[in-house]
Amino acid sequence: MTRDRRGTSEESHIDIVPIGWVDALAVSVVAANLQTLIGLNAATLPSHPDPEYAYLPLRSQYAAGAIIKALESIDDGSRFKLGIVKCDLCTPILKFVFGESQLGGKAAVISLHRLMDKDSARTYLRAAKIGLHETGHLLGIGHCRTPDCLMAFVSNIEKLDGLPSRFCTACKYEISRSLKHIFGRD
Ligand SMILES: [Zn+2]
Ligand SMILES: [Zn+2]
Repeated sequence: MTRDRRGTSEESHIDIVPIGWVDALAVSVVAANLQTLIGLNAATLPSHPDPEYAYLPLRSQYAAGAIIKALESIDDGSRFKLGIVKCDLCTPILKFVFGESQLGGKAAVISLHRLMDKDSARTYLRAAKIGLHETGHLLGIGHCRTPDCLMAFVSNIEKLDGLPSRFCTACKYEISRSLKHIFGRD
């Protein structure tokens, strides 16, 4: 049986890349959530070394954009990369970010730095939400005005904790459309 190439293309897949020392359980929880809520099979790659190339001495933080560039340059044939770091991330215009992504691009990064709680289950849940949000951006989904959608713009931890772990109907639809377009998934 012959099928259009798209119909038989690679499975829906994302590589998760721990960068520097990262809590392995946090990585697994992020992976499991990508699988359950988006339907992306998440494989964890071996850890990368600390991202010294991204360090900004004047800010004592790490440039999210530089880490994304490094992730993009990994050429293993896989469409998406999600980096996870423990260090504090920033961008040229934001004092800090929980995560950063390229809209419709190849790579995103999330940081556990500002997500830490003494209740580690809460830390993991926060990481999962940020991972889902940034992956949504990779799939081309912008910020959502529905306040209880994972694609809502979140700038502080209280807002993040108040968010349920779900996408609104419109974003869910856009995500499945995007997956179908990219991976030829039904
Ligand atoms: Zn966002
Ligand atoms: Zn939404």
